[in-house]
Amino acid sequence: MRTIKTLLVANRGEIALRVMRTAKEMGIKTVAVYSDADRTAPHVLFADEAYFIGPSPSSQSYLKMDELIRVAKASGADAIHPGYGFLSENAEFAELCGSMGIAFVGPNPHAIRVMGDKLSAKQAVKPFGVPLVPGTDTPIDDVAHAKELAQSIGFPILIKAAAGGGGKGMRIVHRLEDFEEQMHLAINEAVSAFGNGSVFMEKYVASPRHIEVQVLADQHGNTVHLFERECSIQRRHQKVIEEAPSVVLSPELRAQMGEAAVRVAQACNYVGAGTVEFIFDASGAFYFLEMNTRLQVEHPVTEMITGVDLVREQLRIAEGHPLSFSQEDLHIHGHAVEIRVYAEDARQNFVPDIGTLQVYKRPQGPGIRVDDGMEQGTTVPIYYDPMIAKLVVHAATRELALARAIRAIDEYVIVGCETTLPFARFVLQHEDFTSGQFDTHFVQNRFNAQRDLAGTTDPHVQEAAGWVAQALIEQSWTPAGAQASEKPKGATVSQPSAWLSQRGMSS
Ligand code: ADP
Repeated sequence: MRTIKTLLVANRGEIALRVMRTAKEMGIKTVAVYSDADRTAPHVLFADEAYFIGPSPSSQSYLKMDELIRVAKASGADAIHPGYGFLSENAEFAELCGSMGIAFVGPNPHAIRVMGDKLSAKQAVKPFGVPLVPGTDTPIDDVAHAKELAQSIGFPILIKAAAGGGGKGMRIVHRLEDFEEQMHLAINEAVSAFGNGSVFMEKYVASPRHIEVQVLADQHGNTVHLFERECSIQRRHQKVIEEAPSVVLSPELRAQMGEAAVRVAQACNYVGAGTVEFIFDASGAFYFLEMNTRLQVEHPVTEMITGVDLVREQLRIAEGHPLSFSQEDLHIHGHAVEIRVYAEDARQNFVPDIGTLQVYKRPQGPGIRVDDGMEQGTTVPIYYDPMIAKLVVHAATRELALARAIRAIDEYVIVGCETTLPFARFVLQHEDFTSGQFDTHFVQNRFNAQRDLAGTTDPHVQEAAGWVAQALIEQSWTPAGAQASEKPKGATVSQPSAWLSQRGMSS
């Protein structure tokens, strides 16, 4: 058993803050690292100590292993929490920490390696009776043989990169005639994106849902699951709204998926918090997709429905404690929804819309949790993921949670860049979403930005803009990042957006 006294968080933004908050509650000293772009970021101000690690691009800062180890040594950190992204799924970094006598808060390098490659992951879990999508569990290289296999699996087929991630490196093939060309394109893409041309194929599951299961495993062989998260609302194969529990699982199916997830963890001697992703088809069958060997962005919805602080469990497991609860102790309480608030323009196919948060006012009240790493005056850095915040709500039922989420969206004021809030509001009110009849194609099939966002952003932004304008007039108050300007005496602002833009403030 070891005691973590000082924790270095090798990350930034909301996840660095989220991890440090729990560490502080546990009496652990917190150490932040920061790049040029993050000199005054909230995670830096929050930590007990903070160290500069380099220029803004992550390759020169947050991904620099030797620099992070240097800071760990200088600060006396006995553990490193990698958060998500960056080095969180890097087996070499986990190994390096181990060799320096620093606890890596995550699984062992072996588990990271096995699960980091979609093919080795399939091979590892197969003997454990985990259902796999019909397809190959070895790389395909011989075109003639691959075509035969594709025919026996049945079209459409998905060709995937073994090293793929973030929704990249996948190609759908509808007809045998297209197979060879698509296979070559997939290989080339895999080489250029991941430096590894290994590809394989899977049956393309029609109308799929993405449902994942949270697991926790200690160093003593105890593994439990903390139920599922429904993550089917995706754009570009990336999640934007998540909820727990899923509306489509019966208690029996939930137990089956949970048990399958536990077997996946056991197949690689997993230790720590991890997520087993499944694809769920229209007939109710589920198949293993992959395992993410880290804390997920969407972990708060699981925390809300189980009452378990996953970061606390991660740190306790890293210290060598056995899990303090068993499977039978875990229960689902109510319903939770997470909305990822991105600085993106949903009207322009979700391109990042970088700006300064001239006004930033979080929603509050019962059942609301906002995990963010920015505040009023922050300029969303161009170097990293453009996520501003995660808006998480919890309520007794799904219906109440959705109503609460809409209330929170309406209360959220962000002026300075476009955000995905109006898009999220559209999704939460859509009949197919409220009825639970949706799949991973929801955004593609149901969302038409010009039609569905017409008039939705504007009232919201207008209201915010009006609020700012009024404050400027009445209190002679200048929001952070804005240019101070003369006050119009006694003026009423009928067109607040125009009023603000004339003063160098976009709304
Ligand atoms: P990544 O590692 O890039 O996230 P995944 O294997 O987790 O790749 O798949 C990402 C998404 O792609 C899934 O959530 C799902 O929407 C879709 N997908 C993956 N495999 C299939 C499949 N066999 N059939 C249909 N859709 C799939």
